[in-house]
Amino acid sequence: MTTYQHLVGGEWVSSSRTSQNVNPSDTNDIVGDFAEADGEIAHAAIQAARDAFPAWSRSSPQQRFDVLDAAGNTILARKEELGMLLAREEGKILPEAIGEVVRAGQIFKFFAAEALRVGGEIVPSVRPGMTVEVTREAVGVIGMITPWNFPIAIPAWKIAPALAFGNTVVLKPAELVPGCAWEIAKILHEGKLPPGVFNLVMGKGSVVGETLVSSKHVDAISFTGSVKTGRAIGARCFESGKKFQLEMGGKNPMVVLDDADLDNAIASTLNGSFFSTGQRCTASSRLIVTAGIYDKFIEGLIAQMRALRVGHALEKSSQMGPVVDKRQLDQNQMYLQIAKDDGAQIFGGELLDLPTPGFYMAPALAVDTNNAMRINREEVFGPVASVVKAANYEEALALANDTEFGLSAGICTTSLKYAAHFKRNAEAGMIMVNAPTAGVDYHVPFGGRKGSSYGPREQGSYAREFYTTVKTTYINPL
Ligand code: NDP
Repeated sequence: MTTYQHLVGGEWVSSSRTSQNVNPSDTNDIVGDFAEADGEIAHAAIQAARDAFPAWSRSSPQQRFDVLDAAGNTILARKEELGMLLAREEGKILPEAIGEVVRAGQIFKFFAAEALRVGGEIVPSVRPGMTVEVTREAVGVIGMITPWNFPIAIPAWKIAPALAFGNTVVLKPAELVPGCAWEIAKILHEGKLPPGVFNLVMGKGSVVGETLVSSKHVDAISFTGSVKTGRAIGARCFESGKKFQLEMGGKNPMVVLDDADLDNAIASTLNGSFFSTGQRCTASSRLIVTAGIYDKFIEGLIAQMRALRVGHALEKSSQMGPVVDKRQLDQNQMYLQIAKDDGAQIFGGELLDLPTPGFYMAPALAVDTNNAMRINREEVFGPVASVVKAANYEEALALANDTEFGLSAGICTTSLKYAAHFKRNAEAGMIMVNAPTAGVDYHVPFGGRKGSSYGPREQGSYAREFYTTVKTTYINPL
């Protein structure tokens, strides 16, 4: 079996340890053996990125456009094959996996054009004759630490803006899903990116991630993952004076009001809660439903949830794939037990024995919960949603905001008044009206408030804030 190597300074580099990438739909299917780095390889990658920075940060925007646009085209042209790889290593069903690959391609093409749009400002000074220029420059070497749930889109939305604005990169993908990240590395390497501008180092967070966070030669860290890891990384970055950006969890509310279009509310919730096996930080995990529609909504949602076909990610009939691994499956089951012990009624959630050995469970709904229960306070990160009943809109809004998170929030209503009020008063970075809380476009800002996010937004033109640093220059013409 091929062993996939690290990319350091434009060379493929092996290491003594490897780890197996296992298909969660069929644990007999090994996607590949991937090199697992030690700290030394990570340091070498950081040094390569450092060495490449002066030339790349001064390269022409046309050169950066060409490399990124070509990478986007290649990803789009290979969407079926890369989608297949993604579905095999992460377990999302093939159409969702291809959709994610397409999004990664679009992100590269969007940021290719952003390289040409950096711009700046010229401001008259308050001092006579003087002019002030405000320009943007690359930050330096960016360390990227990415999670397993979007193996190609999340690396893409960090790598593309970093390179577009002249930074150099060391990427550490999640150990569970290095395959798509490796393919991006190969595409960039073959696409004439100068050596060292992009480096891939695979391995454990506690080794490779830790080296990136602690190295004084890394200027900034962009992290997506769990709250616990994110907060620890943030504290370390602050101590060492690094710029950092954290995208962490959510406990995203979906409010369903009495006047909602019932079919739309059920379809939006089904999608938001269970598609991609619920493994999305923007998943609708807390359903807050007003009394008048409660019974109809729950009955309809349970019927559709039960009808979802769970199966192998590459099976055409599958509508929901497996959970990513045994640890996450155990975590999902643990939260269902906690909810049950706290008095919730559980529908679904059974472990499934399917023709191939994998981490399968039925989607689950915890009904009759209150907002103080652990199931409503902590991120489960699986196909598990819980329901809280609210007397009216005002109580529903208060419940929606009663969380330490603030990533996305949705409302299903036909009332313009409530939709507008929710948009203004929901404490979240992204608001969805009559649409799933998950599923955002690639050209607009992505991120949250409160405990969900820290630092500038990712994606769209807002990504510039993190990947550039501002310089203010005073010019006295004499
Ligand atoms: P983690 O936060 O542990 O992992 C995210 C990334 O951080 C991975 O690349 C991981 O490496 C790396 N990492 C782990 N420890 C360190 C460290 N000490 N220093 C630097 N980097 C580190 O999330 P998990 O993947 O373990 O998932 C655990 C839970 O996190 C999930 O159950 C879910 O609740 C939540 N989660 C949230 C996501 C989101 O987008 N909001 C995404 C994924 C998970 P590696 O895993 O390879 O060792």
